[in-house]
Amino acid sequence: MTKFSDLNLDAKVLKAIADTGYETPTPIQAGAIPPALEGRDVLGIAQTGTGKTASFTLPMITLLGRGRARARMPRSLVLAPTRELAAQVAENFDAYAKYTKLTKALLIGGTSFKDQDKLIDKGVDVLIATPGRLLDHLERGKLILTDVKVMVVDEADRMLDMGFIPDIEEIFKRTPFTRQTLFFSATMAPEIERITNTFLSNPAKIEVARAATTSENIKQGVVMFQGSNRTKADAEKRALLRKLIEAEGDACSNAIIFCNRKSDVDMVAKSLKKHGFDASPIHGDLDQSHRTRTLEGFRDGEIRFLVASDVAARGLDIPAVTHVFNFDVPSHAEDYVHRIGRTGRAGRSGVAIMICNPRDTKNLEDVERLVQQEIPRLDNPLGSTPDATTDAATPEAQGEEKPRRSRSRSRKPKTDAPTPDNVAADAPAEATPETPAEPAAEGGRSRSRRGGRGRGRSAAPAEEQTEAAAPTAPEPEAPAQSERRADHDRAPRGGNDNRNRGGRRNDTPVGMGDDMPEFIAKSFAERANS
Ligand code: AMP
Repeated sequence: MTKFSDLNLDAKVLKAIADTGYETPTPIQAGAIPPALEGRDVLGIAQTGTGKTASFTLPMITLLGRGRARARMPRSLVLAPTRELAAQVAENFDAYAKYTKLTKALLIGGTSFKDQDKLIDKGVDVLIATPGRLLDHLERGKLILTDVKVMVVDEADRMLDMGFIPDIEEIFKRTPFTRQTLFFSATMAPEIERITNTFLSNPAKIEVARAATTSENIKQGVVMFQGSNRTKADAEKRALLRKLIEAEGDACSNAIIFCNRKSDVDMVAKSLKKHGFDASPIHGDLDQSHRTRTLEGFRDGEIRFLVASDVAARGLDIPAVTHVFNFDVPSHAEDYVHRIGRTGRAGRSGVAIMICNPRDTKNLEDVERLVQQEIPRLDNPLGSTPDATTDAATPEAQGEEKPRRSRSRSRKPKTDAPTPDNVAADAPAEATPETPAEPAAEGGRSRSRRGGRGRGRSAAPAEEQTEAAAPTAPEPEAPAQSERRADHDRAPRGGNDNRNRGGRRNDTPVGMGDDMPEFIAKSFAERANS
């Protein structure tokens, strides 16, 4: 079996790896690191959870070991689709580069340009950025990419979903032709293939896992739910959620509860809190500092229930999440794989329970087709007439919120105009003729400034968009359209018979994984000195 020490990595990197406790490289690491160290382009087809972040950070740190950064001219560049993912990459760099003198800057929206400018002015070895914020810096003339030796594109398929491909192309064009490119995507959509054909040169191709499979150590179940009538259904559904959580008992140390719509995220969090559950919402309408605080609280174990939209919770690597509850069946089947992949991470077991309304059965069929298994049906702990009276004061219980309408299955973009606030993950802002644009986008960046590059308009600026037209309908959050991700490196765990849930207890350790922020916008050197 390959060992890290077989991979020609720098001794300082090996020492940092030893500190993490990882003993053997994962398949994507074993496959990608050697060609990357030889200076070859790499095309890695791998989901999150496979160890892909280290598969590019480790060789990058080794390759950058020699040489020095010049002011405003970073030596390497990592592009990630969302702020949270960029922050996670930065966290990985911090861990693996801790014995080196390499410096980094994290360029993401929601944090000040000033601090980022200061770091860039000093010169950084590694620039980790979301495409939108990076282009903002480039357009301000503060940053030059002509010294980039290594460029990484992480989660390219999500970049595609979020409408970032034109931005990626533009960024590629501003880097030297001679750069080395490490390119990662969970799937190879035709558009992704086109990009790799254009910008990669004879890449080493490493494919480690099939898309859209669910980890076997996640115990799945679905509860079929029918509200007693339209007015009461929403409150009854929340009552059912509470019962499902309670039925898990102490085994449920913490959980992410996914809702399809932002309005439900808020409502479910509010309702859980009212009933004594320690819950907080996270979605793209909340400002970045709020999102970061909430995530930190969840990682630290201060918040037990994170009620989340798909976009806000994407790709988060929080190792010890015992449960995922799907308040709704996601309207895009791939999102199911992504959602439940938040539990059962790093070899732990996990539980994923979903509530399915009759109108969502088609979506459930799609999910089951995708994961190639029937999700076991669980008994409804409330029977057919849940008691929702205690939640009756909420607006929907009084019939104020309109019923969810059936969702379009089209992969076409949704068409509500994003506002500066709701375009939270550096997604390009866009508007439709029906919904004239707000000046748009985070960090003061506007679509018009970017000249309406073609595909940005047709590829959904995914974060926090809302469903098309239908002015009377509530606003669902744009589903993360093709997060075809899964964690494939989990220890198998047999059986899916979730009916016997009383007996199901897992021993997942309590407490969250690594802390997130603080390191944001700090360089390695600063960290070392602080
Ligand atoms: P990623 O796919 O990069 O999001 O990584 C998923 C998880 O695997 C993270 O929690 C990593 O810290 C962890 N990980 C990365 N490399 C290894 C390794 N060689 N052995 C065990 N765990 C790893």
